[in-house]
Amino acid sequence: VNLSASGEQKPRILLMGLRRSGKSSIQKVVFHKMSPNETLFLESTNKIVKDDINNSSFVQFQIWDFPGQIDFFDSSFDSDMIFGGCGALVFVIDAQDDYMEALNKLNLTVTKAYKVNPNIKFEVFIHKVDGLGDDFKMESQRDIHQRATDDLADSGYDQIHLSFHLTSIYDHSIFEAFSKVVQKLIPQLPALENLLNILNTNSAIEKSFLFDVVSKIYIATDSTPVDMQSYELCCDMIDVVIDVSWIYGVKEEQDPAAFDEQSSSLIKLNNGTVLYLREVNKFLALVCILREDNFDHKGIIDYNFLCFREAIQQVFELRNKCQGNPLTNSAG
Ligand code: GDP
Repeated sequence: VNLSASGEQKPRILLMGLRRSGKSSIQKVVFHKMSPNETLFLESTNKIVKDDINNSSFVQFQIWDFPGQIDFFDSSFDSDMIFGGCGALVFVIDAQDDYMEALNKLNLTVTKAYKVNPNIKFEVFIHKVDGLGDDFKMESQRDIHQRATDDLADSGYDQIHLSFHLTSIYDHSIFEAFSKVVQKLIPQLPALENLLNILNTNSAIEKSFLFDVVSKIYIATDSTPVDMQSYELCCDMIDVVIDVSWIYGVKEEQDPAAFDEQSSSLIKLNNGTVLYLREVNKFLALVCILREDNFDHKGIIDYNFLCFREAIQQVFELRNKCQGNPLTNSAG
């Protein structure tokens, strides 16, 4: 599928699912900073919505929000166009509701999309799990996983791989899930992870995340395991930095949040831990967690950071030179 004709070379994430499953809410909370409670008043989606967040975000993709009832066999549904250039298809299932119909739709959607574009990554969000107890959460995930993969096998598509995520807009799980989805679409990921590992080792940093500031999606982290608490701390820090910049920063027209080259921030927690944020480029920030004692060598850390920033720029430029748009998906 040649998308360049329509001027769209960026990988797309499609957000699909039944009506009222939570698609618009997810989009508003993750990409437009809406607070979860406000989503109660969202109008239900009844058309395909292309949401272009590319100007403000490093993560260059579009969300297409479909109404739940879309009919794939309707001739007005151009599946080549819709699935052809798509990097990931996120299918949202409301876990607080009966999900049998959603599972049918999932099967239909995934098999249809796969036929058009076998390179799509299929991601299932088992959504609204905030209302569920832990046991029920795990049980729903097991059940949905089982049924969805059985259905695929029954339709002769064992080769299709589905990934599952438990999500809610009322906590950080939706950001965490989107981070994993987006990371699969970033070809430079191994290089970024490697750079973060090197930075950590040389600066006695315990954990570091490379964030897309606008969405609070982390596009890469070092290879130590992620614990939710650290991730949440870093998200909160970004909110603080952006809020303070909004209030006291010198605003420019293109950059109302006043997040720029000089942006940095340091928060000391009373448990001997330091959070350190540095701007990497217009869209990205590095957030590190380290022991306060190790922060005595701030000069070294800052020097290492400059090397890191330089290397990150090279990684993206190299990709630009070789392949055009850094995030163009091979399917596109
Ligand atoms: P759409 O039709 O798929 O776009 O669904 P909406 O985004 O309009 O969401 C339908 C309803 O689900 C709204 O009242 C939201 O407030 C609610 N909702 C969305 N996400 C969540 C969630 O994570 N947890 C809970 N409890 N409710 C949610």
